[in-house]
Amino acid sequence: MRPCVFLDRDETLIANASLGPPAHPHPAWKPGDLSDPERVVLLDGALEACRVMRGAGYALVVVSNQGCVARGSATIDDVEAVNARVGELLVDNAGSALIERFYYCPYHPEGNVPEFAREDELRKPAPGMILKAVRELDLDLERSWLIGDMPRDCESGVNAGIDADRCLLIGEEGRFTDVLAAARHVVGMADPAPIL
Ligand SMILES: [Mg+2]
Repeated sequence: MRPCVFLDRDETLIANASLGPPAHPHPAWKPGDLSDPERVVLLDGALEACRVMRGAGYALVVVSNQGCVARGSATIDDVEAVNARVGELLVDNAGSALIERFYYCPYHPEGNVPEFAREDELRKPAPGMILKAVRELDLDLERSWLIGDMPRDCESGVNAGIDADRCLLIGEEGRFTDVLAAARHVVGMADPAPIL
């Protein structure tokens, strides 16, 4: 089983709330909703962070709440197009994808698209996305990490069974300034068993 670093997407790997509204926002648009792959911008250090962690042997999996689908300001296709763009930008020197898979939660209890307007075990802080990845990709939770910019990101990791010390909050309130600082911590920590 391989260890993994679970990564939040918005404001961890890519700019999001700071982007401002699109040219023609949907009436349900809220800061943070991103439906246009052309607006994807990697945060400083995100590419290097992913390269460093992949280089150390970690699988990289994105776990992202996308309540914009439940609110109606983006569709499943939009979210998948944005994820595909993020995946295109996060590649190694040979052009191979660094992110193994993107998981997202389209549900939100206060949504107005009936199909998605509910609470769900996938929605962080619930651990559903992480547990699904562990099952589908055969990951070793005990040696895995999580990096995110919101307390609920870290809570989802703890709820999945990741050691709290391995759930790293980044940003102004966080333990690390950004994803690259967190990634350096991840690869700098000696693991009890070799990774590769
Ligand atoms: Mg975030």
